[in-house]
Amino acid sequence: AQARPPGAREASLSQSGPSVSSLPSCFLSSDRDASRQVLAILYRGGEAAQQEPRLLGTIENQLGIRSWLESQGHEFIVSDDKEGPNSDFQKHIVDAEVLITTPFHPGYLTRDLVEKAKNLKLCVTAGVGSDHVDLNACVEKGIQVLEVTGSNVVSVAEHVVMSILLLVRNFVPAHEMIERGDWMVSEVARNAYDLEGKVVGTIGCGRIGYRVLQRLTPFNCKELLYFDYADLPPDAAKAISARRVADLKEMVAQCDIVTVNAPLHEGTRGLVNADLLKHFKKGAWLVNTARGAICDKDAVAAALKSGQINGYAGDVWNVQPAPKDHPWRTMKNPIGGGNGMVPHYSGTTLDAQARYAAGTKQIIENYFSDLPQEPANIIVGKGKYESKAYGQR
Ligand code: NAD
Repeated sequence: AQARPPGAREASLSQSGPSVSSLPSCFLSSDRDASRQVLAILYRGGEAAQQEPRLLGTIENQLGIRSWLESQGHEFIVSDDKEGPNSDFQKHIVDAEVLITTPFHPGYLTRDLVEKAKNLKLCVTAGVGSDHVDLNACVEKGIQVLEVTGSNVVSVAEHVVMSILLLVRNFVPAHEMIERGDWMVSEVARNAYDLEGKVVGTIGCGRIGYRVLQRLTPFNCKELLYFDYADLPPDAAKAISARRVADLKEMVAQCDIVTVNAPLHEGTRGLVNADLLKHFKKGAWLVNTARGAICDKDAVAAALKSGQINGYAGDVWNVQPAPKDHPWRTMKNPIGGGNGMVPHYSGTTLDAQARYAAGTKQIIENYFSDLPQEPANIIVGKGKYESKAYGQR
């Protein structure tokens, strides 16, 4: 039997069905002042979450923290209903002291909502990436924003390596051919290559970007490049023989494969646009598991359609859930392949969920107990940015 992660038992006891599940008043602490309100916007897990309690990031399994919060007399409100003024998110944000969101089904905490959130003190991202929160507004209001830093960086790095391989090997059309009952090797081999000997570059070389390059070293790529504000520590760069390129256009012009691993902020929104795509080598592949809005939706679709890029893969979309008619769902290169898009799940493997659920609990426990937080988890501290990842300020 597989080991059960922390919280699995609690998860099986949690409520399911209705989108909002709040603590029955009879279970509230009699000392109302000690009771704090925690609001979580999570994704709906449906039947899968009933069958698999390790799907902790769902409204059904509630990060495995309901009974712990209730045992302390706190109120825990969980919902996936996040859009519009009548949504549970917008109704309950008014009184919540702690907000938990995930990047997978983001509760967009806009400046307007920050203004309405009169009791909000702490936002916790169960995962990595807090661009769905208006960080500047939180700085101004003294609301802290924390992530479970590192909780899913291996999960994402593995997905990036997989996506690079599936594009370079032309895997998706080959598999679709088999499902159709066809067999025409030349149709798929005409656009299949080896990863060996190719140049790979990452935009952003932090925890994920570095791990991607590290995982590529056994493939004998021609060169591993990175574009970031800062140099890697010399021993880290030497360990993977990575070379920093100071100019983004110069880097992409040298790459057969570009992967995006920077957070979304003012300096990265729309960074991969029509102009930058012109500087890509013709027929390069692009993998983005960072954030959808870093790549211009229409420019990417046009570049793929024209063959300027040979493939695009990733799991992040602007906005999520992606509309049914989002061009990235169906876009193709001129010979009908080159699309490796999936829903946002690279960072929410069952292994990752165990880590980010445990990390979320730790952050809230520290907050309620007035204990210091892990410095690497703090994006916005009390009134100021603590992390440099969201731009040089
Ligand atoms: P990190 O903070 O360790 O690294 C980010 C790196 O990007 C830093 O080195 C930073 O200097 C660099 N950077 C920032 N702005 C840049 C810019 N304009 N140009 C070049 N580099 C820039 O973060 P991480 O853990 O590696 O995660 C990176 C991002 O990946 C997250 O912010 C999140 O958006 C995304 N992510 C996605 C998933 C998923 O499931 N798809 C999961 C986790 C994280």
